Amino acid sequence: MSVWDDVVGQPDAVALLRRAATDPAAMTHAWLLTGPPGSGRSVAARAFAAALQCTGTDGETGGCGRCHACTTTLAGTHPDLTVVATDKVVITIDEVRDLIMTGARTPSSGRFRVIVVEDADRMAERTTNVLLKAIEEPPPHTVWVLCAPSAQDVLPTIRSRCRGVVLRVPPAQDVADLLVRRDGVDPGVALTAARAAQSHVGLARRLARDDDARRRRDAVLEIARRIRGVGDAVLAAGELVDVATAEAVATTAERDAVEKAELLRALGVHEGDTLPPRLRSQLKQLEDDQKRRATRRQRDVLDRSMVDLLSLYRDVLVVQLGATVDLVNAEHDATVRALAADSTPEQTIRRMDAIGTARERLEGNVAPLLALEAMTVALRPQG
Ligand SMILES: [Zn+2]
Repeated sequence: MSVWDDVVGQPDAVALLRRAATDPAAMTHAWLLTGPPGSGRSVAARAFAAALQCTGTDGETGGCGRCHACTTTLAGTHPDLTVVATDKVVITIDEVRDLIMTGARTPSSGRFRVIVVEDADRMAERTTNVLLKAIEEPPPHTVWVLCAPSAQDVLPTIRSRCRGVVLRVPPAQDVADLLVRRDGVDPGVALTAARAAQSHVGLARRLARDDDARRRRDAVLEIARRIRGVGDAVLAAGELVDVATAEAVATTAERDAVEKAELLRALGVHEGDTLPPRLRSQLKQLEDDQKRRATRRQRDVLDRSMVDLLSLYRDVLVVQLGATVDLVNAEHDATVRALAADSTPEQTIRRMDAIGTARERLEGNVAPLLALEAMTVALRPQG
């Protein structure tokens, strides 16, 4: 085993990072890991961090996976590893200043001080500028690993100072193998989930292990078949938004409550006390942040629903064109064939375009219901 085991389907990136970790001549102190959602950016970043810290077992270095440095880095407890995690709405300038201070310190026990920023694209321009100098001339024992969906998502000034590593979408079979090996998922279920998730590792795991997630996805795909007229289309759009809202609330509510309790405790306010006016703005700011996070989450869920729908129409097109490739949604074979029989390839392409347009409009902050109604109306059978 090695720290690279969980970095699935990325032989080129692994070879490059592994070499950098073991050969000082191949080393760089600022990295930019890019790859589509689910390609395993943060997993690769942590594996790289572990490989950098690895002190070796039986002469094997560069991420043996067994030494103390490897295991603590992977577990996130290594004292010289700092990870800025994903669930923040934006990475603030103060956080980045703290990171730079951390980056300036020599490692306490490790070979390097490694700072991983999982969503470097969530930094405002001003924040990014603060980071520039630190990345340009880091102390010799400091390594910055920035992650983003694509190189275009970070400012050119950052991009040009980092060495880029591009992750690809891993093959479904590789993702399935990981689920079987690591999570003990049944091989058949694993492959179905990996295909349905279009190789998004985290999503595949959830689909394989969480019945609710699977049911929600099935419900989204069934919507395509139920739309017969404009009335159904409008109802379907509302349903998609409701499901996404419910999921966003379910995943954020608990954390919101904990954060609020922590803030009040930090401000010295006891439960049930009236909040003194001078503290209200701080609470307001937290609530605003939380609202933004819920909105973002809702949009992420909606976007995923649309990716699912796209995969369904892609399957429809595959059937219509008689192509001999695996269906993403093999378990929805009946729906795929019914839709294929009921339309032409040109109509299918138009429907896929409508889904793509809706995704763009959501990204551009159009009201979700509006964007989705236009989409579902375009999905209804055309004469
Ligand atoms: Zn090791």
